[in-house]
Amino acid sequence: ETAQPILQLHNVEAAYGAVKAIRGVSLDVAPGSIVTVLGSNGAGKTTILKTISGILDPQKGSLLFRSDKLEGRDPAWIVRQGLVHVPEGREIFPLLTVRENLLMGAYTRPASDKDAVAKDIEDVFAYFPILKERQNQPAGQLSGGQQQMLAISRALLAKPTMMLLDEPSLGLSPKLTKEIFEIIVRINRERGVTLLVVEQNAHIALQYADYGYVLEIGRIVMHDTCAALREKDDIKEFYLGVK
Ligand code: ATP
Repeated sequence: ETAQPILQLHNVEAAYGAVKAIRGVSLDVAPGSIVTVLGSNGAGKTTILKTISGILDPQKGSLLFRSDKLEGRDPAWIVRQGLVHVPEGREIFPLLTVRENLLMGAYTRPASDKDAVAKDIEDVFAYFPILKERQNQPAGQLSGGQQQMLAISRALLAKPTMMLLDEPSLGLSPKLTKEIFEIIVRINRERGVTLLVVEQNAHIALQYADYGYVLEIGRIVMHDTCAALREKDDIKEFYLGVK
């Protein structure tokens, strides 16, 4: 890769009190790419995303988004730079309608953008038509897969340059997981949105991402193109479950 990375982490460490969750993570994301971080439960995947989006302060290391340092920035500032986090478990507002949830995604945009926001809502409905049908229902009544769609759509309303996705496959059937990843690829190709996707499901992530990092107990132990990772014996045995 010769292009300047859009996101660069260098030796990032983060902890919860005495629990060190990531121990010197370095990674680069090329603009316009889909990068995945694979790891099992508790490896530190969510912690990486929280540190990037400003929810958690790193103890050490540096984080650069384009030419801006991210450490010490407030999460809303980071969203305004075009870097938007879709949290694990969706974290939608269950009592608000689907449409109201989408409007919350546009909270960093000025009130004068109202007409543009209405048009952008129509555009995200093109990805997920079921959300249009259910736009006036409370979001808490959606299925798990539909809530995941809503969380992704809400993030799109912020007009991101880059999205951070936390385990989009969590709790979804293989069929729905595939559908969600196909939309993720469309968002990347059609809108040029760069994506960093953390996943436990290596099978699906290695199929759809361009480049992958493998995280074990807070450290990156391997990284390569997804095509190359799919052929590695360790990956086959421990992450893809094939002998
Ligand atoms: P999962 O898929 O379970 O979310 P993960 O790879 O995203 O796993 P993290 O959530 O980043 O892992 O957790 C990394 C480590 O930090 C784990 O040991 C976890 O127990 C610990 N940890 C995470 N959140 C907290 C917290 N709020 N307080 C204390 N320890 C935490």
